Amino acid sequence: MIDPKKIWSSNNLPSLPMVAIELLELSKDTDSEVSDYIRLVKSDPAITAKILKATNSSYAGFKNPITSIDRAVPLLGATVVTSLALSFSLSDAAHVAGPMATCFKNYWRSSVVKAAACEVIALEYNPGSESDFFLAGLLSSLGRLAMLKTIPQDYLKVIETFEESEDKLLHEVETELLGVNHIEAGLNLMISWKIPSTIQLCVRHQADPPEVINAIEPSQDLDMVRAVAVANAVGSYFCTHQKGIALQRLQLLTASFYKWSDKDLEDRLLKMKERIDLAAEVFSVDTSEIESLNDIMAEAGEQLAMLAMRAHVASTQAVVRQQIIEEEVKQLEQKNQELTEQAIRDVLTGTYNRKFFDESLRKEIARAARSATTIGVIFLDIDNFKKLNDTYGHQFGDDVLKQVSARMEDTLRTTDLLGRYGGEEFVALVSQPTKKGLTKVADRLRAAIESLKILFNNKQVPVTISVGACIAMPRRNGLEVGERLVTESDAAMYDSKRNGRNQVHVRSIIDPIQEQLTQLSNQKRFSRWLVRHGHARIEEVSQVLLDCHFPHEKIGVLAQNSGYLTAEQVEQILDLQRQSDERFGVTAIAQGFLTEEQVAYLLAMQQEDAGQVAQALAAKGCINDEILYNLMNIYKHEVDPSRPAKNAVASDSAT
Ligand code: GH3
Ligand code: MG
Ligand code: MG
Repeated sequence: MIDPKKIWSSNNLPSLPMVAIELLELSKDTDSEVSDYIRLVKSDPAITAKILKATNSSYAGFKNPITSIDRAVPLLGATVVTSLALSFSLSDAAHVAGPMATCFKNYWRSSVVKAAACEVIALEYNPGSESDFFLAGLLSSLGRLAMLKTIPQDYLKVIETFEESEDKLLHEVETELLGVNHIEAGLNLMISWKIPSTIQLCVRHQADPPEVINAIEPSQDLDMVRAVAVANAVGSYFCTHQKGIALQRLQLLTASFYKWSDKDLEDRLLKMKERIDLAAEVFSVDTSEIESLNDIMAEAGEQLAMLAMRAHVASTQAVVRQQIIEEEVKQLEQKNQELTEQAIRDVLTGTYNRKFFDESLRKEIARAARSATTIGVIFLDIDNFKKLNDTYGHQFGDDVLKQVSARMEDTLRTTDLLGRYGGEEFVALVSQPTKKGLTKVADRLRAAIESLKILFNNKQVPVTISVGACIAMPRRNGLEVGERLVTESDAAMYDSKRNGRNQVHVRSIIDPIQEQLTQLSNQKRFSRWLVRHGHARIEEVSQVLLDCHFPHEKIGVLAQNSGYLTAEQVEQILDLQRQSDERFGVTAIAQGFLTEEQVAYLLAMQQEDAGQVAQALAAKGCINDEILYNLMNIYKHEVDPSRPAKNAVASDSAT
């Protein structure tokens, strides 16, 4: 990075000859007359000669030769004369010998190209102002001249980098390498040269996007600012290797400013090229390096295709990179899952380990406590396993453990969970069983192992298990239930051992009142009622229940909805319940708020919503709608203890 002040405060800056400065001053003075211009021009013989030469060139386009400056100045007009004088001064500054000559030549060529481009635009949109536009275009690269003069070595590096760059514009490379670009440098130089503010505005905005330019105030300057921005892109298009990018910007700008189509743009570029060739002679520009329009267009197309391809490759690479990352994440997740599995599984049998079982039991108890459902634990111990080991060897013992556990897994529902509790002991967690159901599961497991064909040297070895189970209905704060469940089911298993092995014993630690309530409520469930009275088959009802999802309503809410309790009574019961840690229903019965029948009915509703079950049965076509409606009515009259009998209603209304 360089100190930018080094550029615009340097002694090496090009200085304008007196005559140019005075011409500029004169152009700002509204009282100035042609004779003043003639007098000033005449004071510099070199400029006089150049202006005369320009007047007689095809660039000016006069038919008859003009031999004196007194005739030339009024013919050209004040602005043209000023503009020419300034141009010749800059041209002199740009024509240097030595290693930097090419850089200066390129700068000057691009300045004249930009000037001619501006002039062509003015001819179409601001006729009469061609010279002003020409000058604005010519000065728009002044910063490049300043940088070449003041920091030649640094600027050479910028030019080299720019020429190697595939998609950057000159001012972008300048900012990157030097921290300042020719647009800023040019503006500062213009301030010291007192160049008109409209031209400064043009220079400032030449590389801005069209929407920024279109918003510029004052709007009377807008035409020239637009022309210089377009000319700047024309300069890049004709004089740099960034022809594709320049063409894109040209299309963008001219579509926005002048509504030009691509064809319109091509026509204007052709006109500009002709004008450049005319101006080249007058301003000593070598245009031999500017290719034909067709070649330029082809080069631009190539660059755009190359950039598009590069962008495509970059995005493809990004996709591939993304795929690699995703693959890595997937592998990590898999590894994580494997590690988690290892942490929760028993190595020998692949069943869950004791730690995981204990954790699952704790969660299941909390869930059961919340939803007032039951939970069951089954303890399973292989009979005489020590003898088996002693007779057939430890290896065979291991094999038996694997086969037994696999068979038990197959026998359990997927919702139930099997764990290895230790040595030859397993535990199963059964959710929401009835005591009868739990007994069935336990015995199914026992029978499954009894029937298992385990062979040693092709001879069957009988293997049996002793089973103990326990069912509980956890209270709200009853987390110690887990320990009791395991202890009781273990004790029940020992009952089986003592009683001769290969059998099942089941215990219950459900509070007797609660158990009675549960039984009663089960009887009151609509599904059971339908089956009991022969209105539906058990398979149909089971299927429907699997499909239904009942929201778990609080008993207190259901009691209010049924009209059994008021909101205040519910609050009272909740208060009492908090002290006793009993279930809501048990507390309500104990305190005389509800009867056992009422609580049983509410519990049944909590387990399954009769209306929803009826709808599901009707939807499946199990029972006809109308019959179902009547059945619902009969069911409600039978099971809802609050419903007065029909005659009771009649006698009520009679009194
Ligand atoms: P019971 O019918 O009363 O349960 O008698 P048992 O022999 O099955 O019970 P005991 O507790 O006396 O013996 C259990 C045996 O299980 C002792 C131990 O060597 C064996 N054992 C524990 N873990 C493993 C194991 O991972 N692999 C093998 N092969 N044997 C094991
Ligand atoms: Mg044991
Ligand atoms: Mg044993």
